[in-house]
Amino acid sequence: MKKHPKEVVYSSIIIPSITLSVILVIVFLSWLFFHNISSYQEEPEHWQPIPLPELQSPVVLRVVYAENSRFKSLTEDQLEKILDKTSELVSEYFSVEVIFDYKRKTNIESLFDNLPLVVKKHQSQKIIPIEDEQDGIETFNKIRDSIAQQIKRDANSEQSIIDYATPYLVENKKINNLEELTTELTNTIMQRYRYWLEQLANDGKPVLDASPYNQWIYWDSLGYGDLPYEIVITNQLVASIEENGMPVHTCLRGGITGGNMTFNKHSELGGFVFVSAFQIINDNKLMSYLRDDETYTQQQTINYIAATLTHELGHLLFHYAHPFNAQSCIMNPTPLLHYRQWFDQLDVKACQKLNSPMLKPGAVTIKYNIKW
Ligand SMILES: [Zn+2]
Repeated sequence: MKKHPKEVVYSSIIIPSITLSVILVIVFLSWLFFHNISSYQEEPEHWQPIPLPELQSPVVLRVVYAENSRFKSLTEDQLEKILDKTSELVSEYFSVEVIFDYKRKTNIESLFDNLPLVVKKHQSQKIIPIEDEQDGIETFNKIRDSIAQQIKRDANSEQSIIDYATPYLVENKKINNLEELTTELTNTIMQRYRYWLEQLANDGKPVLDASPYNQWIYWDSLGYGDLPYEIVITNQLVASIEENGMPVHTCLRGGITGGNMTFNKHSELGGFVFVSAFQIINDNKLMSYLRDDETYTQQQTINYIAATLTHELGHLLFHYAHPFNAQSCIMNPTPLLHYRQWFDQLDVKACQKLNSPMLKPGAVTIKYNIKW
């Protein structure tokens, strides 16, 4: 059969041209993508405050439970009770009505798939890995500098920090100045963090494996991706060391973070919170020491996770800061992991009487990177 001249033109010129164009576009987009990742330089002015949210009544909060199957988990019944208790506490402490829209359970892998590559790349540079024994002194110095940087930023009095931290250091000795304290805090966080490298999860492998899920800085960055929630509850241990400022109480806990509030571009509130149940539902030697309790009852488990979530919602809804050592206030961070003492001392009326400037809306500035 004779071919029509136009068909000949299509097959010999246009089709190869289209193919070539598609290849060129793909090459260009790939270049743009990788160039963008490698050429971005983080600048201080890229970090801007999250605006204080305007609250509707009731406030609807979307919730997801992110599970790591390697660890002990929460049941649906426990999650329901935790959310019920949280709405009670939020109403009592913050006089706000919240409604939880419990979306679903997801796995930790899917949650982390949303972390944008460019963000992950930049944040990964701030992690201090201590698994590698080889660069011991360099690692030690980096951690010590990070702690010193945070102490300077917090601007508490030298003696009050020494008094707060000394009883919980690994080495039982007299601390005379901040230099000695940062050295001992470094020893403490390294030793307690290393504990998890030897502890085994349900699959017989170390609790801290090569996965990124224990890294606080990645949790803190999930909101730059597609995260349609205000609350993430997880059974994952979040324990890590970063060079951009390690808080004293986090060092004493061996790098553990129980909860956090940070940016979320997919929330009208401008942020999301995560709460980890790991250190409440898992019992071991280090937990017994940090909690001052070997184990918790069902009710304690629900109360402590709900109170931690309420604390984080105080940051999210009102940008409240921490009234350190104001034991009646839910915004006072849990000392070590003394959940029982912390929870039992909460007293909403006593806290209101303190009239703490830390508990004024907007007391804390939480920043996000406008370029991400
Ligand atoms: Zn807090």
